[in-house]
Amino acid sequence: MNSINKTYRILLTSMVLLLIAAYTKPALANISHDIEIQIEKYSNTYPDIQFFWLKGQEGLEQLLRLPALLGEGARNLDYEHDDVVRNILNKAQYHRISMMIHKQWPSATLFQTGNDSKLISRHACVITLDPDLFEHDHYSAMRLMIGDDITNLNRIPAEYQINNADFANFTLHHEIFHCLDAYQNGPLYPKSRDELGSLYSGYRAENRADIYATQTFLSEQSGDDRFLENFTRMRTLCVPAWDLTHCTDKGIQHSLDAISGLAANLSHKKIIDNTDKISTQAIPEYETFTEFLACAYRTAINLGNKDITFTKIAAAIESFAIDDKSARRMENKIKHIQTLLFSDNSTQQDDM
Ligand SMILES: [Zn+2]
Repeated sequence: MNSINKTYRILLTSMVLLLIAAYTKPALANISHDIEIQIEKYSNTYPDIQFFWLKGQEGLEQLLRLPALLGEGARNLDYEHDDVVRNILNKAQYHRISMMIHKQWPSATLFQTGNDSKLISRHACVITLDPDLFEHDHYSAMRLMIGDDITNLNRIPAEYQINNADFANFTLHHEIFHCLDAYQNGPLYPKSRDELGSLYSGYRAENRADIYATQTFLSEQSGDDRFLENFTRMRTLCVPAWDLTHCTDKGIQHSLDAISGLAANLSHKKIIDNTDKISTQAIPEYETFTEFLACAYRTAINLGNKDITFTKIAAAIESFAIDDKSARRMENKIKHIQTLLFSDNSTQQDDM
């Protein structure tokens, strides 16, 4: 009887393990498979760009072979630069890509190939986005968005969480758009010695990428309906985290308002056109951007991020005019989101 019980228990345990495997493995396989399919679509639409998806050890090995594939005279197209620094910038970019692979962080880098390149396409878009990151940890996407504070992560109510599969899908479109943007419109970062000017270029590039990814996500009509709303909320928290380039919540909101309900099956060309149009409305000119910086600076300090007063750009930002009403509105909105996400208060309603 005992041995029958034992056999039964082993069988039962095996069945449970098989069930768990059946539920977890396909989810990861789907993320990987979905990325492959999306990259194939982009490759067909842009035959002049070869897409490299680098991840893990295999990705690092591919990266080592990349300079030879790109050929002598290859040029990075993300940063405007003089010929004299071309090789240094390429090396810096290879180094940066290897760090992104190591850290499993999403990124995109665009190169123009050199004269003796072994590639047929004249451009190479290198994407890092590691599906393994999402394998064991339900919080992976949210960690990338709001940090590693496990107390905070545990507090986020289920309805305000973002899931790894939707995040990976959105992020792939976001990253690929960085390449498409540089390919179609020139370097994302014009040559500049001005730190605030570079910050503005980054802010502009990130907003454009999120405006594009929002429409693509809506157009595909897959995934969790609440994803974009929850993702936007987390983007708003970039202000206290002082990650200003990723403060794209207004850009996403413009994108949602502009195409809400009309998004199904938009063509890629239409989405690209929309991105330019919506960006013109949503992304402030540099002069107005300084008003945003002034509000963000005061808000971040009021919410406890005192470290930023020591940053190089703090003195410049302190000299900008500030609209008290806008600053108060920004602070209240962020406090509200922090309460909603991290307060453990399940009766709280989102009424902003
Ligand atoms: Zn980006």
